[in-house]
Parts: sequence; C-alpha cells; structure tokens
Amino acid sequence: METLEKGQLWKSLGNSLKHERIITRFCRVILAILAAEDLAARLITAETTVNLALLAVQLVLYVGFILAGVLKQKQTGADDEGKGILPGKLAKIAEIVIMAVFISLMYHGPLFYFIVLLPITSIILSRGFKESIRYIVLGWLAQALSQYAVWVMLSGLNQQGFYSNEFMLFISVTVQYLLFAFYCYILGSVHRQYVRSQEENQILIDRLGDKYVQLEQAKKEIQSQYDKISQANEQLEQANSKLTTSLAEFYTLQQISQAISSIFDMNELLKFVNDVIIGVMGVSHSTIALCHGPNNLLKVQVSSIFDKKELALVSDYINSDVLKPSVKDGNSMIDNDVDSEDYPFTKGRNIRSLICVPLIAKGNVLGIVLIEHSMPDAFSNDNVRLLEIISQQVGIAIENARLYQQMHDLATLDGLTGAYNRLYFQDNLQIEFKKAQERNYDLSLLMFDIDHFKKFNDTHGHLFGDLVLKKIAAFIMKKLRKEDIFARYGGEEFVILMPHTSLEQVVEKAEDIRKGVGSLIISDRVISASVTISIGVSSFPETADSQVTLVKSADDALYEAKRQGRNRVCVAFTKNGKKG
Ligand code: GH3
Ligand code: MG
Ligand code: MG
Repeated sequence: METLEKGQLWKSLGNSLKHERIITRFCRVILAILAAEDLAARLITAETTVNLALLAVQLVLYVGFILAGVLKQKQTGADDEGKGILPGKLAKIAEIVIMAVFISLMYHGPLFYFIVLLPITSIILSRGFKESIRYIVLGWLAQALSQYAVWVMLSGLNQQGFYSNEFMLFISVTVQYLLFAFYCYILGSVHRQYVRSQEENQILIDRLGDKYVQLEQAKKEIQSQYDKISQANEQLEQANSKLTTSLAEFYTLQQISQAISSIFDMNELLKFVNDVIIGVMGVSHSTIALCHGPNNLLKVQVSSIFDKKELALVSDYINSDVLKPSVKDGNSMIDNDVDSEDYPFTKGRNIRSLICVPLIAKGNVLGIVLIEHSMPDAFSNDNVRLLEIISQQVGIAIENARLYQQMHDLATLDGLTGAYNRLYFQDNLQIEFKKAQERNYDLSLLMFDIDHFKKFNDTHGHLFGDLVLKKIAAFIMKKLRKEDIFARYGGEEFVILMPHTSLEQVVEKAEDIRKGVGSLIISDRVISASVTISIGVSSFPETADSQVTLVKSADDALYEAKRQGRNRVCVAFTKNGKKG
C-alpha cells in the first residue's frame, strides 16, 4: 500500500507539473500583456516620454523570466523521476525573483499581484500551500528589496506617486503579500482536498483491485474444483457404463444358459442364441454355421439375413478361405473396415464391419458365429470378448446335444440297420395310435419278413445276410416320409407305422416296397444276390380298432402272405371278419 501511495503521489505530482507548465506558459503571455499595458498606462497617465532604460530593464527581466521558465521546465521534466531537483528549484527561485522585480517596476504593479504571481500560484495548485510558503516569502523579500532598490536607483527617473515613501512601500508590499498568502492558503486547501479525494479514490481503486485479484483467484479455484468434479464425474460415468455393460453381458449369458438348459432342439436353441446376439449387439446380421461331414464343411444353420439372394451368397461362400483363421485355427477375427470385395460373401452387400468367432468344444471347432454391421468401426474388442463367451457356451451346448443325440440313437436305433428298435416302435405306436384316435385320422401298419432267410444265411453266410438287412433298410428309409416310423421288429422282420395313411394307400405302398426290395441286387466283392419279402398290412380304423389289433392283424396278414407262397402283400381282415 505504501509503495502504491508513493507511486500515486509521483503520479499526481506529474499531473500537477503538467498544470504548472501550462500555467507558466500562460504566465509569459500575461506578463507580456501586462508589460504592454504598463507601458500604455505610463504614456497615458503619468509620463510624456517613454523611459527607454526602464523598458530595457523590463525586456531583460522578461527574457530572464522566459529563460528561467524554460530551464525550470527542463528540470521539472527530470523531477518526475526525482532527479535534478536542485537546478529546477534554482530556476524556479529565479523565476519568482524576476517576477517580483518585474512587478516592482510596474506602474501599478501591486494591483496585479494575484494574476501576476502565477509561478507561485502554479506551485500551490500543484504542490499545496505548505510548499509555496517559502516562495511567497522569497517573492515578498525580492519585491520589497527590488522596489526599494528601484526607488533608490531610479529616483532620478521621475518615479512618482505610489512609491514616495520607503516605509509605506514596505508596508504596502507586506500587506499585499499577506493578502496573497491568504489567497494561496485558500488555493492550498482546495488543492489538499483535491489530493485527498484523489488518494481516497486511489485507495478505493486499490481495494477494488485487491478484491478483483481475490475474485480471480477464487474463480480459478472454483474452476479447478469444477474440473476435478467433472473428471470424477467422467470416471463415474465410465465405471457406470462398464457396470451396465457387465450387467447386460451377465443378463445375456444367463438368458443363453437358461435357454441351453430348457431348449433341447438344437436348431431352436441356435435360433434363440442368434436372436439374443442381434438384440445385445445391435448388429445388422448374425449367422451361425456348423461343421458337417468328414471335411468339416460349414453349413449355415440359422441366420437373420432376410434377403434370399444375400443368404444364398453367404451360404455358398461361408467355406471361403477368408474365414480360415476362425474355422481351421479357432481364432476370432474382427474387421472394422470391410471393403465389400474383401470377402466373397459380402460382395454387393452393404457390410462395413464384421466379427467371426469359432464355436469350440473340447478343442474342436464345431462351427462359427458371424456377425455383420453396415457401419464401419462398429465393433470393439469387448464385442469380440462377449461373442467369444457366448460362443463358448453355445459350443458346449452343441457338444452336449451331440452326445445326447448319440445316447438317444443308441437307445432308440437298431445298431445294424439304423432303423428304430422294437422298444421305440412300441412306445411310439401307443402315442401315434392315441393321436390318430383323438384326431380321427387313418393310421396304417406295414409288417414284412424276408423270405427263406434262414436258407439265404446258410447259403451266403451270416455276414452277407447282415449286409442284406442293411441294404433293405437303407432302401426303405429313402422311400418313407418324415412322419413314418420304420423299426426292426425282430431278426429279419420289420414294421412301418404310417400316420395319415389309409388301407388303400398302405397297400399301394406295400406293393411298391415289395417290388423295390425284390429288384434290389445286393452284392459284395464275391457274392451278388437278391431276396424277396412278404408283407402284411392293416389300418386303423378300417381293419383294426386298437393298437394291439393293429399289430396282430398285420402279423396275421403277413402269416397269410407266407402261407400263400411268399413275395406278396396280404391285407388284414376287416373288423367284421371280411378281408380288407
Ligand atoms: P420264412 O420267413 O420265409 O418262412 O423263412 P425263414 O427262413 O426266413 O424263416 P424265419 O423267418 O423263421 O427265419 C429267421 C432267420 O432269419 C433265422 C436267422 O438265420 C435269420 N436271421 C435272423 N436275424 C438275423 C440277423 O440279424 N442276421 C442274419 N444274417 N440273419 C438273421
Ligand atoms: Mg423269414
Ligand atoms: Mg422271420
């Protein structure tokens, strides 16, 4: 604060000095005018001739006054920085002395004190009354002495009137200076007030400045706190989004594991998983393809691709080498900048990003999951990770399903021929008969036995006999519908249960099978032979009204076919004893 005040003082002093300079300049002009006026007054009022010596003295004083003023200005310029004070002060003293002497030479000088003593006035205005007291005293002394000197020296020059008595002169000069001092005192008060208000203003400005600095600092602190809060908020948001993602993943995996334990149909399960993947990842398409056959060729199992052409393209080129990393090596692939020419299955399709993840179980690649997006940079490594976890679960589910299928096959299929076994037939006969009865549709049964097979075995050997059984079973399977149940009923005796088939239709089918089997040439490296079969057929509700009578009547019809000479089809008797 102190330094500020000091600095401010210098500043206000600088301003005052500027005023002082302006006043000094005015002073010169006024002094010149006064000199001219003085001369005119002398000419008009008292003197008839111009006193050249007096004029010369006035001129010299005037020039001296100007020079002192110039010198003072030069020095007070340096004063601004506190230097050159002494020469400046001397110049000022000279200025005042010259001014006082000049006034003393004037015809009616005392009348112009208050205007003419401008150098002193300027000091009061710029520095206050206290500062100017010494100059007032100096001016008083200078004028009193010079006026006395002029009076003594120039008495012969016919000075008249006012300066007739030394004592009176001294008194008049002193009174004039006292009045001038009073005048200066008033001006000084004005100046003091001005300076004080300036100082107060400055203090207020400084305080405001301090407050401004404090506010700026507070603002910076608030800003830094705000930045910290924003940063913390950002971290929280990131953590929150990670948590949300983890929760979503957890939920997805839970859904999938639930589906795995509740959906036993593999295709249905894959369809569900595919839908979940689309829902969770927001992808354009998801396709699951499984490996088949000895060459492990991929076959599209489920896909969200709706467009038939696009689906055909994917199905045709799913085995292309570009997916080798996933299919052969079991590694995931991610491409966020797909050019449609990069992959044979993306040609002409709007695909810009894709991920391919293998379906692995027990170290074997069972298939792949391929997800596609129409936007570039659509996928992150997190997506790959999630898809890998899903694929792991699906892989295990597929493996389990295959094991289940194997067990199911073992339990229901005949090991030699691949036809269902007798147990399976019995179970399903019950179910199918109940359905046919309830829904009121025809259910037919076809029972056949190979003719003279004992002899055939004896002739060609048991192994060749086995081959015959296999070939006949394979031939018949090709001829049946999906809903028909073909089972090995006994050694070389088979049954075919045919829902929605009337007696007439089953007879027709039986004839077709009989002829087909009869014309089959079965051969191995050495033997080539053929067999015939005898068939008995029965049908609900035409020739049987229960599952027991259905089997019994078909068996009876088969017996009848054997009896009639074999290689023929016999129809069961109707319920009222007539032949069907
Ligand atoms: P037909 O039926 O014409 O009256 O004469 P068949 O000689 O075929 O008589 P049957 O049906 O009673 O004969 C059953 C024979 O079928 C006995 C057995 O040699 C043969 N057989 C039964 N199961 C198998 C089998 O799994 N493999 C082979 N190779 N033969 C079997
Ligand atoms: Mg037989
Ligand atoms: Mg038999």
